[in-house]
Amino acid sequence: MRLVLKYGGTSISSAKDIQAVANHINSLSKKNELVIVCSAISGTTDDLIEISKLIKSENKDKAEQLASKIINRHKQLAKQLIKKSIIRKKLLEKLDIDFRELVALIEGMVLLGEVTNRSMDYLISFGERLSIKLISFAINDVGKKSIPLTGKEVGIVTDSNFGESKPLMDTTRLRISKTTDLLFSTRTIPVVGGFAGADQHGHVTTFGRGGSDYTATIIGSCIKADEIWLMSDVDGLMTADPKIVKNAKLLNEVSYIEAIEMALFGAKQIHPRTFEPLLTKKIPMRIRNSFNIKNQGTLVTDSHSTSTKNTVKCVSNIRHNGLIDIRGGSMVGTPGTAAKIFATLAKAGINVMMISQNPSESSITIVVKNTALEKAVNVLEMELLGNIIKKLEVTTDVAIIALIGSGMRGTVGVASKVFGAIEKNKVNVAMITQGSSELNLAFVVKDSDFKIAVQALHDTFELDKIN
Ligand code: ASP
Ligand code: MG
Repeated sequence: MRLVLKYGGTSISSAKDIQAVANHINSLSKKNELVIVCSAISGTTDDLIEISKLIKSENKDKAEQLASKIINRHKQLAKQLIKKSIIRKKLLEKLDIDFRELVALIEGMVLLGEVTNRSMDYLISFGERLSIKLISFAINDVGKKSIPLTGKEVGIVTDSNFGESKPLMDTTRLRISKTTDLLFSTRTIPVVGGFAGADQHGHVTTFGRGGSDYTATIIGSCIKADEIWLMSDVDGLMTADPKIVKNAKLLNEVSYIEAIEMALFGAKQIHPRTFEPLLTKKIPMRIRNSFNIKNQGTLVTDSHSTSTKNTVKCVSNIRHNGLIDIRGGSMVGTPGTAAKIFATLAKAGINVMMISQNPSESSITIVVKNTALEKAVNVLEMELLGNIIKKLEVTTDVAIIALIGSGMRGTVGVASKVFGAIEKNKVNVAMITQGSSELNLAFVVKDSDFKIAVQALHDTFELDKIN
């Protein structure tokens, strides 16, 4: 098989973990053609972002201290990781080139006293630039040929939308297949840095946080991979958060559209655009645990028929939100009301997670994160109160409960089963939404009720017996 394996930061955060990864890759490489994609070592991207903030606030010393922390951590890992001294020496030399460039870059940014989107992407791409070298040399150390490549070097070409770039797929496909064909023919395992590419002028761009997943599927679609494995520290997608529901189960198989919903609801954080390259090529993806490789994880495929006896596959929750009920008589039958409300919120950079409006049009209810609540209420009051809005009613500390499963589509009685179970547990529902795709039914309860609600639904739909 031709496989793309992507390792998240926590899977490669100690010398022991990286060695285990290298051994696994070594044994897989006997029967498969592999491309490895890596995130930064856990915490590195956060540190680099912190450095950019320190530069902005002209805190040169702290920025340099944090850079030293990153440098020392990678040096330390390199020393502990590699057994053969010649390989270790070569790795340290290679890393040193990156360290020097990182220090010079920070110095330059400090001198300029500014952080542009472009310099920011250049800076935060260093996490992967360093991690690929550790992994690739660890593969060398177990006796296999391997080469570290940044996203730019492997051939990922993007637009110039720094911080949120998109690949130019045709150019990217040509370049990546050229690079990988050569490497496959010499049985060399490429270890590619996730998260970043470069625009047509060669400037480094990134895909946004968590973008290594996206790198893996971009490459997978370019080389016509048979499967893409996202290796992280969880066994796969679950029927509920196992910290909340004791009998939560691993899902053996879900469809792309279900996985997209589950990713959005944070069951496992997956970059939102990860699935795009898979949809047309229909490449299966597995979500697997690098610390538990006997487990096959969750298979994500195009198929809609997988275990759809179950109408619902997963009960997710998002806690710590606020609900705003926006009321006003003059909202009724007035075109543009919703546009004004959402434009006001968008201008203030507030992300709205849930929206509902009843047909009487006298109120619109929205849910935002608790942390954005005060700002949201503030801008709505300042800009719209007294003209289109009469009154705002705010509830803090609410939880969104979402049921996900394509089997809900067209199935009669799901809602009554859901709200029956909720009623039995005397939990009050403050808001309900269901898109017409019927893939996702979501409602809002008090934060303090979320556990009872999640468990009740997990029991009602017998999700512990799902597979
Ligand atoms: N290192 C990047 C981040 O932490 C990309 C990734 O991990 O996928 O967001
Ligand atoms: Mg990550």
